[in-house]
Amino acid sequence: MNMLNDLHVHSNESDGQLSPELLIDAAIGNGLAAVALCDHDTTAGTVRFTQYGKSRGINALSGIELSAKWKKGNCHLLGINVKSDCEPLEAILRKTRESRDRRNDLILEKLAEMGITISPEQLSNEAGGEVVARPHIAYALLRAGHVRSFQEAFDKYLSSSGIAYVDRFRLDPADAVKTLREAGAFVVLAHPRQLGLDKDKTALFDLLIELKNAGLQGVEVYSPDTTDEQIQLYKEMSVALGLAQTGGSDFHAPGLGGRDIGYYRPSVPIPKITIPELSLN
Ligand SMILES: [Zn+2]
Ligand SMILES: [Zn+2]
Repeated sequence: MNMLNDLHVHSNESDGQLSPELLIDAAIGNGLAAVALCDHDTTAGTVRFTQYGKSRGINALSGIELSAKWKKGNCHLLGINVKSDCEPLEAILRKTRESRDRRNDLILEKLAEMGITISPEQLSNEAGGEVVARPHIAYALLRAGHVRSFQEAFDKYLSSSGIAYVDRFRLDPADAVKTLREAGAFVVLAHPRQLGLDKDKTALFDLLIELKNAGLQGVEVYSPDTTDEQIQLYKEMSVALGLAQTGGSDFHAPGLGGRDIGYYRPSVPIPKITIPELSLN
């Protein structure tokens, strides 16, 4: 029996391309036993995902991915089996959405002061009705000929060192863990590679201890672009702290970044994991 599972995929309710239903079909097509939808800052797709998953006989888990405050790189947390009607989490999600919308307005104002006019309508056209974020501003800049590439839009204007940068509300990592636990989730640190701490193992271990004390239960040991050495390091730290070792493809769209559901590298499946809390046996 094939027991592959993937605890980190995105749908078109955040920045992914496939609907929740198509993700389930693709997961079944790849022989998965379990799959978790972890959209950024929203649980909008989880009811469809779990219901359709149930009808097709796959263990479909409702999840979410939160971004926490971090000096460099990303500190992302996955809440798997999250309840979507938990008010403390909903309050944070509303604050995140409002802060992102306000940030977009402030960035457009800064650009306008530099003589670059992008209208809110142009921006929502780029986003196609989903969450509007900096990548959409980058595409609008590119389309209007203000930059020659997507990367240049970020380097020159939108990155934290860019001239039109505006910060937004971000959660403290330990608070993110606590809020997800309160919402009934099994909480996992996503793609630890993106923390940028691999050269400072002590800092990474200290962070894991801090997050474990806040309620962290697992580490996404297997994720794209992670080297064998990194995987070994995350495994050792997880074992030392009694944290579960999970894996996720961080799948966003067919063909994008060579990622496929159930695989953390091209043609390399995510190893089987056992987590009784998530009915992964
Ligand atoms: Zn992430
Ligand atoms: Zn993700």
